[in-house]
Amino acid sequence: MTNCKYIFVTGGVTSSLGKGIIAASLGKLLKARGYNVTIQKFDPYINIDPGTLNPYEHGECYVTTDGAETDLDLGHYERFLSTNTTQANNITTGRVYQNVINKERKGDYLGKTVQVIPHITDEIKRNIKLLGNTGEYDIVITEIGGTVGDIESLPYIEAIRQLTWELADDCISLHLTLIPFLSAAGELKSKPTQNSVKQLLQYGVQPDVLVCRTEQELPRELKEKIARFCNVNFEAVIEARDASTIYEVPLLMEKEHLDRVVLSKLNLSFKNEPELHDWKQFLYRLENPSKKVKIGLIGKYVELKDSYKSISEAIIHASSATQTEVEIRWIHSEEISEENVDVLLHDLQGVLVAPGFGSRGIDGKLQAIKYVREQNIPFLGICLGMQCAVIEFARNVLGWSDANSYEMNPSTKHDVITLMQDQKDVENYGGTMRLGAYDCQITASSNAFDVYKTTEIKERHRHRYELNNDFAEQLQAKGLLISGTNPQTGLAEIIELEDHPWFMGVQFHPEYKSRVSTPHPLFISFIEAVSKTHSTILKKASVN
Ligand code: GLN
Repeated sequence: MTNCKYIFVTGGVTSSLGKGIIAASLGKLLKARGYNVTIQKFDPYINIDPGTLNPYEHGECYVTTDGAETDLDLGHYERFLSTNTTQANNITTGRVYQNVINKERKGDYLGKTVQVIPHITDEIKRNIKLLGNTGEYDIVITEIGGTVGDIESLPYIEAIRQLTWELADDCISLHLTLIPFLSAAGELKSKPTQNSVKQLLQYGVQPDVLVCRTEQELPRELKEKIARFCNVNFEAVIEARDASTIYEVPLLMEKEHLDRVVLSKLNLSFKNEPELHDWKQFLYRLENPSKKVKIGLIGKYVELKDSYKSISEAIIHASSATQTEVEIRWIHSEEISEENVDVLLHDLQGVLVAPGFGSRGIDGKLQAIKYVREQNIPFLGICLGMQCAVIEFARNVLGWSDANSYEMNPSTKHDVITLMQDQKDVENYGGTMRLGAYDCQITASSNAFDVYKTTEIKERHRHRYELNNDFAEQLQAKGLLISGTNPQTGLAEIIELEDHPWFMGVQFHPEYKSRVSTPHPLFISFIEAVSKTHSTILKKASVN
């Protein structure tokens, strides 16, 4: 058996170059050639995990099956590779330091001064090798968050330097940079890339592969120049042009032979050609829609669309599965009022109310839900979106004007959404919600069953509040069906309306499980319902 191989991915010149997508695309290609691959991300901030971060700071918090609150890049890893990630796939500086400090308190370093080198770097190296040591993977791709030169990512670069020495032929380093185009000069410029590599060299890391983000084709001479100045082979200077969708990037990287270059440098065989038939079919269907619909996505963080990354990706997956072009109208929940709700929503064929925390924007969400319920517009409510649907129903159908969630008003008599029993004694904010995958039992004759075509499902969660079962009977009597429950606790997981073409609320987050290879049935069914309502026929696209 050969040793597990490691690929370290760093970024230079500027942030937001898409290291996560490049790492996921490379992982996809290697997997498509028959290797077992996983991807891991190190985030250089001090928070233990992104669970306590406001989405404005860091975009969506992605939840894994084992209940880890992680960086949104892990969503890309899962969507591209179709494998589950775990807590071990996302480590922050906070966690690294916490582990070292806990050991120090236990006396593990008794008598020694605890230092960044070797103790912090050892802990980073231990976490890098953790996945490799499971024996499950042929290749571990480790992405280092941030940009080379940041003070906070220095210990990670140092750990890579040490590992490159220790692992010798079993690892390589890939550096992602930007080749800017100066329109005044009419030229692509390689100097920032040269400087970024020089900085890496200063820290003792020689990149083996350079992936260069560029808006224009890189001329051969420029690639040669970069190769010469940065001590990399000409073939290892990879052009990464802007793509129309992130799902095209694996194909662009395949054309550039990124997978071959990487495998050669790791002394691994090419195995078979990458098996990308399904992936290409997914893209074909995405790019050749036969109809077009417009849906509204209502949330309070819509200024930063990354806050809803998994939802918008799940919509893209469903859009390909149904060959429907889906235009999303992003609507700020704080902007919706009783007066303008019709103006904002009347031309939409479906509405999705997003997850969230706290009372900001709740009134707008309730107005929108009332509108779609009464107008028979397909509705999908996720987590807080589902909770709002229950509140709206209780207020306007049962006539309980004080109905609310305990989260928004702890003193209401009609707390139709209430704090979960096991949350009552929780004091810390971080990592204490109901997190990760839980069972859900679906009622046989329900829309939920039509969607999932099974009665047993497992979905991922991230919440503290739940539908208050004290009111379940009264809600159901008026037509709000609880069509999915947790078999162990009786917790409501899915609600739907009897007298509505398609109205569903889910306490869990289906978006975390949608993948290119397996678009989520709930999103598919939602988009199907939406296009039945009214869609614009584009052309007769053939199903490839
Ligand atoms: N704030 C709600 C709760 O904690 C909903 C959470 C969510 O939408 N993820 O239950």
